[in-house]
Amino acid sequence: MIIAIDGPAGSGKSSTARAVAAKLGITYLDTGAMYRAITLKALRQNVAYTDDAALGGIMAETVISFDGAPPDVRVIMDGEDVSADIRSDEVTRNVSDYCARDVVRESLVGQQRKAAAGRSVVCEGRDIGTVVFPDAELKIFMSASVRERALRRQKDFAAMGVGKSIEELMEEIESRDRKDSTRSNSPLTRAADAIDMDTTGMTLDDQVAFIVEKAVQINH
Ligand code: C5P
Repeated sequence: MIIAIDGPAGSGKSSTARAVAAKLGITYLDTGAMYRAITLKALRQNVAYTDDAALGGIMAETVISFDGAPPDVRVIMDGEDVSADIRSDEVTRNVSDYCARDVVRESLVGQQRKAAAGRSVVCEGRDIGTVVFPDAELKIFMSASVRERALRRQKDFAAMGVGKSIEELMEEIESRDRKDSTRSNSPLTRAADAIDMDTTGMTLDDQVAFIVEKAVQINH
C-alpha cells in the first residue's frame, strides 16, 4: 500500500509520516530530503539553479539513499550522511529554486518510484498524490495556519542554535509556498481524491492516529 502525504512547509508532514511508517512497520520515503540533498550538492559546487547542463551532470552522478528504520532515518548522499546539512538555513532558502527544474524533478521522481516498487511506503512531499503516485491507496493533504507552521520552524531552528523571528519565518514560509504552488512542473496542489487534514492545534499523536486508522480501514 502507498500512503501519500502532501502539504506545504511546516504542515507537520515529516514527523507524522515518520511515526506512521514506524507504527505500521513500513518504509518511509522523504522526498523533500532528496530535493534538499541535490540543492546541498549544487550549492557546494557553486552550480546555479539556472544551469541545467551542470544540474544534469549532478543528477547523473549523485546517489541518494536512506539508512535506518523510521523514525530514525538518515539521508546518505554519495556515501556521506547529510541528514543535518540538508536542513541548514541556506539549503532551506534555496531548495524551491533547484527543485523546480525539470532536469531535477524528472530524475528524482523516477528514483522515488523505484524506491517504492513492490513495497508498502509512506511517502511525503508536494506532488506525491498528484504526480509521483497518483494511484496511491491513501492520500492525505496536510495544512496548518502560517503562524503555526512558523512556530514549528522556529522550534526546529532553535534546536540547531539558529534564532529567527516569527515574522521572518512567516515571510519565508509564504515565499516558499508561493514558489512551490506556482511553478509549472508539478506544483503543490491537493489531489482531487485526497483527505484534507488541518493540523492547526492537533497533536502529533492525533495526526498519526488519524492516518493509521484510515490505513487500517483500507487494508481490511
Ligand atoms: O518537505 P521539505 O520542506 O523538506 O521540502 C523541501 C522543498 O523541496 C520544498 O519546499 C519543495 O520546494 C521541494 N519539494 C518538492 N517536491 C516534493 C518534496 C519537496 O518540490 N515532492
